[in-house]
Amino acid sequence: MENYFHVSVQYLKGIGPKRAKDLSKLGIAVIEDLLYYFPRRYEDRTSFTPISEIKEGQVQTIKAKVLAKGQRSSFRRRSFVITEVAVGDDSGKVYCVWFNQPYLKEYFQVGESLILSGKAERYGKKLQLNSPEFEIIKEEEETSLDLGRLVPVYRLPEGMTQRYFRAVIKKTLDECLPKIQDFLPFDTRSRNNLFNLAKALLNIHFPESFEMQKEAYRRLAFEEFFIFQLPLILRKLKRKEKTGIAHNTGGKLAEDYIKTLPFKLTASQNKVIDEIRKDMSLPQPMQRLLQGDVGSGKTVVSVICAFFAIDGGYQAVFMAPTEILARQHYEKISSQQKLIKTALITGSVSKKEKDVFLKKIKEGKVSLVIGTHALLEEGLVFKNLGLVVIDEQHKFGVGQRALLPKKGPNPDCLIMTATPIPRTLAITLYGDLDVSVINEMPAGRKPVKTISFSKDQEARAFEIVRGQLGLGHQAFIVYPVIEESFALDMAGAKKCFARLKSGEFKGFKLGLIHGKLSEEEQKNLMSDFRNKNLDILVATTVLEVGIDIPNATCMVIEHAERFGLSQLHQLRGRVGRGSAESYCILLSDIKTEEAGARIKAMVDHSDGFSIAEEDLKIRGPGEFFGTRQSGLTELKIANPLTQLQLLKIAREEANRVLSVDPKLLLHQNSLLKNKLLQRFPEYEKLMIVG
Ligand code: ADP
Ligand code: MG
Repeated sequence: MENYFHVSVQYLKGIGPKRAKDLSKLGIAVIEDLLYYFPRRYEDRTSFTPISEIKEGQVQTIKAKVLAKGQRSSFRRRSFVITEVAVGDDSGKVYCVWFNQPYLKEYFQVGESLILSGKAERYGKKLQLNSPEFEIIKEEEETSLDLGRLVPVYRLPEGMTQRYFRAVIKKTLDECLPKIQDFLPFDTRSRNNLFNLAKALLNIHFPESFEMQKEAYRRLAFEEFFIFQLPLILRKLKRKEKTGIAHNTGGKLAEDYIKTLPFKLTASQNKVIDEIRKDMSLPQPMQRLLQGDVGSGKTVVSVICAFFAIDGGYQAVFMAPTEILARQHYEKISSQQKLIKTALITGSVSKKEKDVFLKKIKEGKVSLVIGTHALLEEGLVFKNLGLVVIDEQHKFGVGQRALLPKKGPNPDCLIMTATPIPRTLAITLYGDLDVSVINEMPAGRKPVKTISFSKDQEARAFEIVRGQLGLGHQAFIVYPVIEESFALDMAGAKKCFARLKSGEFKGFKLGLIHGKLSEEEQKNLMSDFRNKNLDILVATTVLEVGIDIPNATCMVIEHAERFGLSQLHQLRGRVGRGSAESYCILLSDIKTEEAGARIKAMVDHSDGFSIAEEDLKIRGPGEFFGTRQSGLTELKIANPLTQLQLLKIAREEANRVLSVDPKLLLHQNSLLKNKLLQRFPEYEKLMIVG
């Protein structure tokens, strides 16, 4: 049966090479694709609304005969064609109207029967159906597929009719269902009252009732989650089998470092430090995700954990996403304490200096290495790497992330992100990682006051900025510069800078920082700003992560509508780092609903978890997680946002199966194994080689 599933649709009755080509446009190549091409919606054709009972503003399905048809151009615009068809049933008649689809007229013949489904709207005194979906019914061949039941409606290309596609699906189901064997283990199904595969496929296409459709849907969504979880769990199990480093975390080094800090750790920081410490002391390699909002103090947590490793004689490495950040961390850590030796490896460190660092690292004379992706180069060799910290993981690809740990004997890994998502969702989506969460901000932080202005209210925004400068504070003005329109944006940023400098902020000291400046120039500008030699830093998105300047209390974001939500939140995190009241002013020109939703989310929410949830809602999980979470984009019907409970159950079940039979060798799991390998061929290695 499994093989039969993968037979080309071309060999089905009624589908020749020509039809097969049509279907391939829908991404349908083999029988399985066809059966998993689910309806877009269902139409209840067990009974139709009589025309006399059509209600305004509601979607109605009617069955009627064509009485007359006509076409005219719009009164206002001559080129705009309106197709009108009058249809009637025993109870009355109604007009159906389509706009600018001149070819439609030829579709309809007077006397023919139609099923129409669309919203009734008032036009003058009369109700009409605007652009209804329709299907022509040939009375003599009315079949039970198209009438008298819940009828599936598919997303189809121009020229392929619903009734044709329905017939193809039905034929395929008839042929295949008797032969289908379910790859979900029987136990799993019965524990969770899930339909078997045949029943689910039948009822997703031709449901007996809406209840049956719902159950079919639940089974198929479960199946998607289940398959998606298997490799994650498998990877986690594999990792726990490996021998890593059992760090001795009982030393005094970390404690001494904590004493040098100018603040007290929050309870939440202490809690995650404890979790990480426990994990590090186990002999299995750690893979832990540390989530926490921008400014919640993840960096200091990771440095403390580095001290745990260093205390036991190991080295630690910290990879930051940008040059500026790496340098900022390096300078801060080296100046804060004299307990350990540190090194900086980035693109801008001179060759001579770098060579000295590399030698010392290799000899074990440096304990903590901080850098950018320059760390991934081959020249960097550790004496005994014990901990890898990766900051802002989403800035690195999975491949890049995997490289650094290879520089040591299964070192522990701490991956940090300021794009937090609800813990339960994180556990399931990043299923191969353990998760720690900082859910508390350092004391004394006030939420940043966020104000949304339209772009012509710039003057008001700058008024607020001048107020802040008057208090001796500093400000950022952010200008979007994106890859796709780089030259244009850059010119815009420079113009904006020149205008502010000689206009609105004449007399103040302004600097312009952007990604095309040399590392040296960027570094100098940042330290000028830090040392208060500048009042305002006009910046492109290089500011996005981690810059830490507590005296900057105000940020204006120009063209805020062009930024993504998490980007806006990251930017806003650059202010509100001290105890003074801070402001973030969004200047925008909102043209799309989505942009409006993003700006609203920024004004309404200040914490990263809510922001991430909003972002997930606005963009949907596929977009939100991007291709990096590859499995996710393959989810066709399951939605981790709305079906979190089902996702959790699927994860538990996947766990149960794999913990008993990690290589899927048992007879009852053989179909499952095939399915998994077909989906993720790369798991062959994991499953076979012990
Ligand atoms: P994140 O990396 O999570 O965005 P950082 O680690 O950069 O946050 O911390 C932001 C700022 O808060 C830094 O200046 C840091 O020194 C400071 N900080 C960290 N923890 C605390 C704390 N418990 N109390 C006060 N300030 C803190
Ligand atoms: Mg950080």
